[in-house]
Amino acid sequence: MTRRVSIFGATGSIGQNTLDLIRRDPEAYRVVALTGGRNISALARAAREFQAEIAITAFDECHEPLRAALEGSGVETAAGAAAVTEAASRPASWIMSAIVGAAGLAPGLKALEQGTTLALANKESLVTAGPLMLATAKTHGATILPVDSEHSAIFQALRGESMETVERVIITASGGAFRDWPFERLQAATPEEASNHPNWAMGQRITIDSASMFNKALEVIETREFFGVAPDQIEVLIHPESLVHALVGFRDGGIMAHVGPHDMRHAIGYALSYPTRPDLALDRLDLAAIGQLNFSAPDLMRYPALGLAYEVMAMRGLAGAAFNGAKEAALDGFLAGRLRFTDMACVVGDVIENMSGDRLGNAAITLESVREADQVARRRAEESMSLKQE
Ligand code: NAD
Ligand code: MG
Repeated sequence: MTRRVSIFGATGSIGQNTLDLIRRDPEAYRVVALTGGRNISALARAAREFQAEIAITAFDECHEPLRAALEGSGVETAAGAAAVTEAASRPASWIMSAIVGAAGLAPGLKALEQGTTLALANKESLVTAGPLMLATAKTHGATILPVDSEHSAIFQALRGESMETVERVIITASGGAFRDWPFERLQAATPEEASNHPNWAMGQRITIDSASMFNKALEVIETREFFGVAPDQIEVLIHPESLVHALVGFRDGGIMAHVGPHDMRHAIGYALSYPTRPDLALDRLDLAAIGQLNFSAPDLMRYPALGLAYEVMAMRGLAGAAFNGAKEAALDGFLAGRLRFTDMACVVGDVIENMSGDRLGNAAITLESVREADQVARRRAEESMSLKQE
């Protein structure tokens, strides 16, 4: 039987890896919606290749080029954020959420409302609105499967185990592009230098977030939200080889570690075939050739974003939305050359401290309140950046 699948963020790194897996077994899938941003040629190419029902660009001004590129293909087109979200209500039994940033939340929620299986790569959804995501899934009988490699690893290590027996969850971090740089050099780091991940090929924003460990901060919060473990049960371990993706420690002292190559198609394929394990012709690990795996504790001076994650978890409520909004604004500032690499965490820390008086922790989490907190945080981050520039 063919399965109807949609991919949100089809032109990105996760989206393309997902299409690669679907391409290996084309008879098994019917591609419903593919969405993208400004890379119209990639979106149109994928839509033609997979004969998607509809291709949607998130940006109105890109509609005309998309329409032109898909002329005569029989693929419907649409544009704008609302059209992207609307496409998530097209019936599909598996939907990949791989838009980058807070823009991924609304389509993900809409997908859950149709009771589908949502493969969640967009980490911002759980960070900004974890309780809302889980409640929406529960109400509509939908399933959320983690795609972020650490969370897929935890999910796999927990299979067949009871959460009461879990003592701690450890997620690993490569240390990012600057892990071997002297601390003093960090403040002069450029976006180009931060965009070179030592182990993975990913989108630019997540790659820079890996260098600053804002990515790991998001993942810590994501772990708290998805698995319901307490903040003090979540640990981060620097592991430069990035082959052990996460470990779960149980009350009997045993630890289950998930080990695998640097290839997101493993986690995507796991989510695509769940609950069965797929046959995946991907590279196999040769541990003898690798020889050794290294681990060390993260230095919070070097990676202040990690400390912020624990502050955000203590606040709860809309603190995650504010944290992510401020982080996205600070990242934009860094990319635009307005902010030094090391100032991103200062700006985000300022915003969080600033907003802690706004009763973020007590607010109800709705799509609207999350948007509002995100917008306020971006504005405050702008103010903080302007002050830093003076
Ligand atoms: P990417 O930058 O390569 O792709 C992002 C996708 O989102 C593209 O299709 C782009 O067109 C689309 N997009 C961008 N802005 C948009 C907007 N405003 N509205 C709608 N669509 C928009 O990113 P990626 O590396 O594929 O990451 C996607 C998500 O998955 C992120 O949340 C990231 O943190 C998460 N993730 C990625 C990896 C990875 O290995 N790449 C691993 C774990 C988690
Ligand atoms: Mg990850």
